[in-house]
Amino acid sequence: MAVLTAAAHRIDTQGQLSRIVVPAFEAAGLFHGFGLRGGLRPENWPAAAGAPSARLVTTTQIHSDRVLVVSNGSPVEPADGLITDRSNHLIGVFTADCLPVLLADPGRGVVAAVHAGWRGLAQRILDKAVAMMTARWSIPAHSVTAALGPCIGACCFEVGEQVLAPLRQQMTNDEGVILPHPEGQAGGKAMVDLQAWAVQQLVHAGVPAEQIMAVPLCTRCHPALFSSFRRDGRRKQEMFSGVLRTTG
Ligand SMILES: [Zn+2]
Repeated sequence: MAVLTAAAHRIDTQGQLSRIVVPAFEAAGLFHGFGLRGGLRPENWPAAAGAPSARLVTTTQIHSDRVLVVSNGSPVEPADGLITDRSNHLIGVFTADCLPVLLADPGRGVVAAVHAGWRGLAQRILDKAVAMMTARWSIPAHSVTAALGPCIGACCFEVGEQVLAPLRQQMTNDEGVILPHPEGQAGGKAMVDLQAWAVQQLVHAGVPAEQIMAVPLCTRCHPALFSSFRRDGRRKQEMFSGVLRTTG
């Protein structure tokens, strides 16, 4: 996994919009970002992107494996992933510890935004998102670029059998994904690295590891930057992450 260092991703502030951007998406000319705590509301992102007429498309998230294609306007059905080939459509997801993932095939102008918590990953939502890009637009998986946003890190994501069982079932090698609990046995609990899990799933789907970039920041450990469900409980404010192709 190409883990982005502090120098390789950056916080871009443009007017009122602060977001974390990654170089590969910038180089592809895609307006994108992983939002921050208390950041600009998503309906104000298009203007900040210099595309005030762009449509914002989000959906009710249900921790599923459901990925919808956005062609015109908002999907009415709940889902956890959105894909579009349309320009001027800002698609995005909300998170507060779950992993936001942006996918793109810049050459074909297809982009995706996925809400990938452990439940979504257990149902292989990233595998399915890549498979949909392949099936609908004949995109070879090796031309997909992925950016993994800030989420709860392995430092803080303590889990039990509910998470470990489906995870172990899914992969033959969980090294780097399931990590020992710092307190030893801890009643069968372990630490899970959601980004490493996502990388395994994307690589399984055919995305080259070197085209997967992760922002290595834990939402729970950085209260000044991020909301965290585990830290803030119901007081959390979900953060918006999205991608928008402004031309074509
Ligand atoms: Zn942490």
